Amino acid sequence: MNPQRKPIIAGNWKMYKSAADALALVNALKKEVAGIENVEVVVCPPYTALYAVSTILQDSEIKLGAQNVHWEKEGAFTGEIAPAMLKELFVRYAIVGHSERRQFFGETDAGVNKRAKAALANGLRPIVCVGEMLQQRDAGMTQAVVIEQLEGSLAGFSKDDILESVIAYEPVWAIGTGRNATPQQAQEVHAFIREMLGRTFDPATAAKVRIQYGGSVKAANAADLLSQPDVDGALVGGASLDAKGFGDIVKSARGNI
Ligand code: PEP
Repeated sequence: MNPQRKPIIAGNWKMYKSAADALALVNALKKEVAGIENVEVVVCPPYTALYAVSTILQDSEIKLGAQNVHWEKEGAFTGEIAPAMLKELFVRYAIVGHSERRQFFGETDAGVNKRAKAALANGLRPIVCVGEMLQQRDAGMTQAVVIEQLEGSLAGFSKDDILESVIAYEPVWAIGTGRNATPQQAQEVHAFIREMLGRTFDPATAAKVRIQYGGSVKAANAADLLSQPDVDGALVGGASLDAKGFGDIVKSARGNI
């Protein structure tokens, strides 16, 4: 981590937690992270729990995120949620391009780009996910895949846009598998992403962009991953469903500042 970037730890709850369970989890998490000021903490519950969770985050530093966002203001888009609908619930972040959306719901870089731009236009910060599959890593294609996804997902971004955004590097082979990238593997790709952002925007801008690592992050491996100079936080799936475990990851980020 680098002191010029505030670490960001975000929990992606995926399709877990009823509204009642979500309230219990956030109430417990509030206690776990009370008093921690130098780490940004975000929770991304399912849509059905956003309202309930937003009501108990009004007095908290924990920020609310959504797991996706559509690009249109409104319309006949069954199953989708417009940016303004999220803003109404005090949502601040929206994950876009998660590998599960790409793999199981056919989302493309062009669509991710539209979602990210709509988020930005409505004052939501996108967390733009990229990452290679295992066969791609084994074939030495990690950098090519990440470049292609970033170029497509960030097309037309201004410097202000990228500064409002967070990039999440999430190797698909590490998501939900219990097999995390080593700190060195994560650092290598994060440094590569920052270098690419430096070429696309400029090095000073790239130096300010936060790049999270995601893929089987848990309390036991968080400190090592977060100690890497270009790892500015974590996007956490499974381990974010437990207040103590997620709180310990947040504390690891603080310990690394
Ligand atoms: C994720 O869903 O973004 C993720 C990284 O999941 P997990 O931590 O469970 O691997």
